Amino acid sequence: MKSLIPSVVAVLTPVAFVVGQNAGEHHSPLRRAQHHARQDAPSASTSTSPVALPTSSVSGASGTVSVAPTSTVDTAVYTFSLAATNPTAVPLSIITANQASSPTLPLSSTPAAGASPTFISGAPSLPNVSTIQPTNYPTMDRIPPLDSAEVQQWKQDVANSGISIPDFQPTNPGGCVNNTAIATDPARCWWSCTGCVTDKDITQCPDKNSWGLTYDDGPGYYTPNLLQYLDEKDLKSTFFVVGSRAIQFPSLLQAEYLGQHQIAVHTWSHQPLTQLTNDEIIAELGWTKKVIKDILGITPNMMRPPFGDIDNRVRAISLAMGMTPVIWTRTSATSTFDTDGEFPSASSLRLCSPFFITADFNIHSGVTPVQKVLQNWQTILASASTLDHGFIVLEHDLFQESVEVATGYILPDALAHNPPFKIQPVVSCLGMQIGDAYIETNKTTAGGSSASTSAGDATKSNNSIRQSPFESLVATTLIVGVSGFALGFFALTRF
Ligand SMILES: [Zn+2]
Repeated sequence: MKSLIPSVVAVLTPVAFVVGQNAGEHHSPLRRAQHHARQDAPSASTSTSPVALPTSSVSGASGTVSVAPTSTVDTAVYTFSLAATNPTAVPLSIITANQASSPTLPLSSTPAAGASPTFISGAPSLPNVSTIQPTNYPTMDRIPPLDSAEVQQWKQDVANSGISIPDFQPTNPGGCVNNTAIATDPARCWWSCTGCVTDKDITQCPDKNSWGLTYDDGPGYYTPNLLQYLDEKDLKSTFFVVGSRAIQFPSLLQAEYLGQHQIAVHTWSHQPLTQLTNDEIIAELGWTKKVIKDILGITPNMMRPPFGDIDNRVRAISLAMGMTPVIWTRTSATSTFDTDGEFPSASSLRLCSPFFITADFNIHSGVTPVQKVLQNWQTILASASTLDHGFIVLEHDLFQESVEVATGYILPDALAHNPPFKIQPVVSCLGMQIGDAYIETNKTTAGGSSASTSAGDATKSNNSIRQSPFESLVATTLIVGVSGFALGFFALTRF
């Protein structure tokens, strides 16, 4: 299907972007996400006071992009070079917090209820989404109640799993800086604060130049736009699904699944899990597993903790519920594979650039300019080239802006990369079949344990990070201050 996105050619060469930043002016992305996600249909942006962002221009002949600052409050220069962009990309000047909503794409077809997916051997037949009634599930975007029969059963399942759950109290709100003893306790192995991983965590792909493509927080209104681009390029991804969004968009979840993408769990209401009680964690994970099973007929055996907030208590509960944790690549205390990159008022910290996250979700809130996201992407590429293994990058499909930067810039650039990347879902980059991502069709070993085995193989070098001077580094003011800051913004940012 032809894209409805306006056709604008943007040929980019190395350029510098100067944008005004006023990080103090922003609204909670979480609150806005919930607001946006609950609307019945896309509408004009409701942004009321976004960061002042500049206009930009594209000069076709020279292929340069210039951005004029419109704010005198904090300025930063962002540079990046893209090997390729999508000819139908939305211009960068438009990808801002206060942009008007662009058309969403209809799904190309609605699957027939009862059909059996043919791409997974032994897959259960597809449930009828018309039977999915939100009233049969917990309130969206709230921690589910703990007194339901379902939660009681899942608690019993955890108790019967044979996996010991560490007797840790939940962490205090405010992150590492408000949990200084816990933050560096090796028994906790709190990834957010120290980068600590275990041999159960999946944080990278084993093969160099292999990219575990992941999109979190959806499905959302613009997921069909992303799916269309992925189809056109024959790319498959892992979608870490929020249960509240699945119950809102069951047909989109089926489209992801039938598109042979991997479906995995990202909790019911997107809470920082180390702050929750055991029962609350069980309820968050259990309801998300259940709604995915009810919509797709299969149950994921991988999960990603919101914000990457995981410690040994959260790990144990996840594993006891049959799910292996998947985080994202992190090469040092200040280096993860996230295109996010930056937190409010933390421009000097550059917190996440070396972490493999792009900050794409922060465009919607006005916290991060799209130019910064692309600079983060360039930093990720540079980091990836130094690794002797593959990587996992955190991106998002909940917001229009995140999808636009993915389909217009990041993915086209990745496809033009030399040497070529092998872009695939996490389960595939680990050397398994797509059916191995689900408890009912996993052929490698029983339950989700195969993913754990592969994770162990895939994260050996990360274990070396944990045992390296990085471990002592995290006890310093840097890690407490930086990660504490990051965790302090858990309520504001959307991983
Ligand atoms: Zn998330």
